[in-house]
Amino acid sequence: MWGAMSLEKAISIAVRSLTPNRPYHVQWMLTRKCNFHCKGCNVWQEQDVRELSTEKVKRGLDILRKLGVMEVVLSGGNPLLREDIGEIIEYASKFFITTVYDNGSMAAKKIDDLRHADFVAISIDSLHPEKNDYVRGVKNAWKNAVRAVEKLQEEGISVSVSPTISQFNLYEILDFTNYFLSRNIPVWYCLYSYDFSSDPDQIFKIGKKNDEFAITDNKAMVELCDSLLALKKRNSKIFMTSKLLAAIKNLYLTGKRTWKCRALQNFFVIDHLGRVAGCHLHNPVASIFDLPDAWTSPKFESLRRIYSSCTSCTYMCYIFYSIHGSVSGNLHVAKEQWKNAGRFFKKSNFTPLNLAEQR
Ligand code: SF4
Ligand code: SF4
Repeated sequence: MWGAMSLEKAISIAVRSLTPNRPYHVQWMLTRKCNFHCKGCNVWQEQDVRELSTEKVKRGLDILRKLGVMEVVLSGGNPLLREDIGEIIEYASKFFITTVYDNGSMAAKKIDDLRHADFVAISIDSLHPEKNDYVRGVKNAWKNAVRAVEKLQEEGISVSVSPTISQFNLYEILDFTNYFLSRNIPVWYCLYSYDFSSDPDQIFKIGKKNDEFAITDNKAMVELCDSLLALKKRNSKIFMTSKLLAAIKNLYLTGKRTWKCRALQNFFVIDHLGRVAGCHLHNPVASIFDLPDAWTSPKFESLRRIYSSCTSCTYMCYIFYSIHGSVSGNLHVAKEQWKNAGRFFKKSNFTPLNLAEQR
């Protein structure tokens, strides 16, 4: 899941990934502006024009670097609605594996801003334009998103599609995957989860209990995990580790979690005002500018203990970060993504020999 990167950056990331007890992954929701009206998401209904200045975002990125973060996911709202997004991506990509999310409406217009991103994820939820546009609440969302994927691919920018698996599209996810894999486009999934946190000030909310998206067919979900596990053996462009797929399968089969949540340990989120939370379902607990000191505070220690026994969500990214939020987890990802990583290392003239020479 890594885009073209310099040798220096590749080595620096390798070193950070092998240093234990770090917050490896951060999701920064850079803006609360959004041009879509997705069903169930409250971001577009509660937009906020306030956001951190470019300089403050850069200062925050410097702090993340000091903390040892290796991957930053820039999301929103739609992060590409920020006029300074190119400058932010360029700065972030010097130090971090930098992933940028778009709902498919902006990427084709912001190609030059995206050139430094390691990875651009375009969210598309169905192979059927009208079904996708219904979920997104915007006409032509599907057409524009597919056009954006093609344009990024033509421009040599690392792009993937990112469907949110829900009851609404569960039975077509395999076809969806095959459709994009046959076009040489990787797939990274999200998993629909309604938020039922009781924290009053959670960063944003998605879904309602028993809405049309909540997964009710557990058997189909288990079968889908099996099919993706089999497909993954033949195609390295499914950007899910087998460990993650096995954990999701087990969850739908038995209702049991094989992982402990590592929010505020190995990952955390930052909102558009620079507030830090373990995940978007919980209240902000610090400002990015309070880190790194707050990171080692008793307050954070006690929150880590609470979050590690929390079972309030099944968001795929948080499960992924929890399962792979350790040195051995990072090595597992590196091993599974080696075929993808190989082509980037080739671009940067990386060989095991010159890695040894750099030491
Ligand atoms: S899900 Fe994403 S694209 Fe859709 S309204 Fe919410 S923030 Fe915007
Ligand atoms: S399980 Fe983890 S990521 Fe999910 S709500 Fe609880 S603390 Fe947040």
